[in-house]
Amino acid sequence: MSKIKVMSENLANKIAAGEVVEKCASVVKELVENSIDAKSSQINITLEDGGLRLIKVDDDGIGMDEIDAKLAFQRHATSKIYRDDDLFFIGTLGFRGEALPSIASVSEVELKTSMGDIGTKIHIKGGNLLSEEKTDAKKGTSITITNLFYNTPARLKYLKTEQSELANCVALIEREALAHNDIAFTLINNNHVLVKTSGSKNLHKTIHEIYGLNISSKMLEIKDSCDDFDIYGYICKPEILKSNRNHIITIVNDRVVRNNDLNRCINDAYYMYKPDSKYPVVVIKIDTDPTLIDVNIHPTKQDIKISKIEVLTDLLFKNIKNALYKNLLIPNGNNDNVELTSPLNEEKNDFIKNIINEDNIEENNYVQTKLNLSSIIKEESSVYDDTVIINKEIKLLDLHPIGVIHKTFIVAENEDGMYLIDQHAAHERINYEKVLDAMKDKKIIKTSMLIPITIELSTSEFIDIKQNFEFIRELGFDIDEFGINTIIIKEHPIWLNQGYEEETIRKMIDIILMDKKKFDPVEFNDRLAASMACKMSIKANMDISYDVQVELLKELVKCKNPYNCAHGRPTIIKFSNYDLDKMFKRIMN
Ligand code: ZN
Ligand code: ZN
Repeated sequence: MSKIKVMSENLANKIAAGEVVEKCASVVKELVENSIDAKSSQINITLEDGGLRLIKVDDDGIGMDEIDAKLAFQRHATSKIYRDDDLFFIGTLGFRGEALPSIASVSEVELKTSMGDIGTKIHIKGGNLLSEEKTDAKKGTSITITNLFYNTPARLKYLKTEQSELANCVALIEREALAHNDIAFTLINNNHVLVKTSGSKNLHKTIHEIYGLNISSKMLEIKDSCDDFDIYGYICKPEILKSNRNHIITIVNDRVVRNNDLNRCINDAYYMYKPDSKYPVVVIKIDTDPTLIDVNIHPTKQDIKISKIEVLTDLLFKNIKNALYKNLLIPNGNNDNVELTSPLNEEKNDFIKNIINEDNIEENNYVQTKLNLSSIIKEESSVYDDTVIINKEIKLLDLHPIGVIHKTFIVAENEDGMYLIDQHAAHERINYEKVLDAMKDKKIIKTSMLIPITIELSTSEFIDIKQNFEFIRELGFDIDEFGINTIIIKEHPIWLNQGYEEETIRKMIDIILMDKKKFDPVEFNDRLAASMACKMSIKANMDISYDVQVELLKELVKCKNPYNCAHGRPTIIKFSNYDLDKMFKRIMN
């Protein structure tokens, strides 16, 4: 081989390294996926300083013989299939045949591998073979990477801090462990075990090993299939929510993938069960014919395209919705369930603001919604219609109020324990469902106002509103022009609560003006209903009689979703008898 050829090859490797290897986690990913391909049952990842100082991956896989060991570091020497449509066939995760030479070209590598007889140990630095020797015969492969990017200073400075490199590695291994729950993974950084799974082949157990009891005990199983897709996995109860969407994990044919449609569908299915700014923990395995999968071929990306995606999202949406609807979701008040991973102070501040100015906060959060509500609500109704499921448990909850604390929280009990109910959130939920039902009702009963309401608008606003006159009339409002840039409303539907007429009409105008570009009637209904429900409901700091408390609780449990207000806040929290006994040390464990 001529010298020039070698040089250019090394250069090519370095360039490729820039594309494939961006951070410590991408090195870990390449090595771990090689170990998975090698049919390992145990993969150990050892890091020093988050991988900045050292990355070591060892496995008990099939290992390599002496020839393969050396070939592994040569470009295009891969034995792996290298056609994109083969990527998803079982048994090959890899399309990164060039990754190992690339990594070796920008670091120092020590490889020990054996197929069970004589082992091979090689040492490479900057792509050059420094030494090669025979070694012991433990089956499997162990690769140690040090000095990453030592010869590419420009790259080196792109590495992040130890904490952020480490966080990426941990997230990666957690996902790999979930995708391959038949393999036992261990991740150690500076002698601390950060991830440890047993390879039990049991997804729930793996979730438990990764997220702990607090989360694993609040996961609901999902399992279903259609002609093209099998889905299986776990979704969290809405009391477990995270501040980012990193814990929505989708695994297609044993590969962790990213797909916006899937993410959106999962998040949408939690609509109304959570605030928009929070995300659930979801692990879903999807099995399908590999020909339905199309990979975006940038080697580091996990993005994929799925044919028949609507079939898949429908199936997923329906199952998540059902699971949420069928299960009793009252969050447990016993402290440690509250999310602690998010910046706590921020949470606290939000909470305080909420109390001070509940309506504004809720409204503002609400306005930021970017959901595709029409499709959610359309699908939602079909979920409830097609599958006649009645959440008996919540409907049968027989709650007796005891009193109200701070004119805000109703204390109630039943034979299972004690409940706290946010009087505003509960009433808002009840009103929200009532208003929404009334809006959907085709037979609108109208009532005329003693004094018609006139609203003056700017010219452009007037044009926008006028375009929606028909829609507003269909809702039951008798709206007309009334002089220059002014509208008049003489009749309104009966569901509009007395005393709130003008406020609601103004709100309605606001929503239309805000959304004029992509005005969506379903979303409009929803926002208006939430806004009205909020305004007409009992507020915090309002005295309510015992009878009202009784009525509120009775109505709440009849709701489709009794657990959250129209903005996703919880309405009810439970302290079971067991929790209470435990808190007072009547039982010890
Ligand atoms: Zn409210
Ligand atoms: Zn609310």
